[in-house]
Amino acid sequence: MIDGEFLSGTAQMISGACNMAGICDRHRLLLTSITRRLAVEYPVKMDDGTTVMIKGYRFQHCDARGPYKGGIRIAVNISEAEVAALSMLMSLKSAVLGLPYGGAKGGIVADKEKLSCAELEQVCRGYIRAIFPVIGPDTDIPAPDMNVSPEAMGWMMDEYERMTGRHVPQIVTGKPLVLGGSRGRVSAVAWGGVFLMEEIERRAKNHFRSYAIQGFGNVGGNLAKILAERNKPIVAVSDSKGGTYNENGLNISALARHKEKTGTVVGFNGGKDITNQDLLELDVDVLVPAARENQISERNADKINAKILLCLANGPINRQGSELLGIRDILVIPDILANGGGVVVSYLEWAQCRQGFAWRGSEVTQRLKDLMRFAYKNVSETSREYGKDLYNAAYILGVKNIVAAMKARSI
Ligand code: NAD
Repeated sequence: MIDGEFLSGTAQMISGACNMAGICDRHRLLLTSITRRLAVEYPVKMDDGTTVMIKGYRFQHCDARGPYKGGIRIAVNISEAEVAALSMLMSLKSAVLGLPYGGAKGGIVADKEKLSCAELEQVCRGYIRAIFPVIGPDTDIPAPDMNVSPEAMGWMMDEYERMTGRHVPQIVTGKPLVLGGSRGRVSAVAWGGVFLMEEIERRAKNHFRSYAIQGFGNVGGNLAKILAERNKPIVAVSDSKGGTYNENGLNISALARHKEKTGTVVGFNGGKDITNQDLLELDVDVLVPAARENQISERNADKINAKILLCLANGPINRQGSELLGIRDILVIPDILANGGGVVVSYLEWAQCRQGFAWRGSEVTQRLKDLMRFAYKNVSETSREYGKDLYNAAYILGVKNIVAAMKARSI
């Protein structure tokens, strides 16, 4: 039900943006449809000798701007509607960031916590064998998303190379450095968010200090680490089991050690336990959803007390929620702009692999910063041109950039 709402909400946002941008019905129809939906089931031999069938998806939304691009997530509760919505968001994100990509998304239905390392490797390799007919370095380039590590991307690349009998490091992004990964990819989403906040602070001539972060995985955990190094107080952090709060700021390295030991941020003795809902309602400068979709909507928007919502998760807020925050002057930095750092550094990794050349970390960081700033400038200009908030402006810019490519191809 919720995932159905996520998909219909995303399609409605695209449709609304097409209206505002004066896009014709034909292109609106294309943008609200999924080009290809691949659902697979493949066998995996478990450590105890039994065989289980694993379900997986690869959905491709639109490739007018270039090869399909998008992450793979591993979770027990993945639905086709969720994968479809996320593939649409990927097309828009790449278009907002000005990257030569279309949008896709993949999902593997499995409980990562219950798999041994050997079983997880077989799940990842089997997935690549199953979706092999629709991916390729110039057709569809998978990347990591929730619960997918660089090591897993390395297995996927290796499986593709075994099947093709040649080296193709540009087939996936987010790989380990030793296999052609890019410097900076693991923390790219977090750094992208930090660069955007720098730009917002520079334009607002104001410093935003206190942060609350929902999610303490790749995105939320790296953001917390970077902000702590910059002496920004992080008053609350949460994960799927609950959260922890300290009004004077949490000690992030001690919290990371606690999470490493216990598997959760709950029970940290440098903070007080809170729920995920408590975290969303805190009176902080910046609230960062960095976990899952569907966290803020018309159902709880009136309880949000932050000044800025930096959406690093995909789809954490719906249109109605965003409008309600806008009325209360809460600035929403939409996901298709805010978490673009991931696909930007994936693009830089793909470009390096195609050249057979590895750039220095400082080069990657500078390019990421430039592209994030440029995208923010473009979204801000669209916002002024159409008299809309940043959330709507990002969708307008995204659909316009995709439709420009469709028109250039006479689609
Ligand atoms: P991850 O699996 O590394 O971490 C997810 C975190 O969220 C974990 O701490 C988990 O415990 C927590 N979590 C899960 N359900 C929760 C809930 N209901 N309430 C609170 N916390 C919950 O995943 P990630 O890669 O950090 O991705 C997080 C978000 O960022 C996702 O929406 C993902 O699509 C988005 N994103 C990720 C990337 C990337 O490159 N990894 C790129 C762009 C966007």
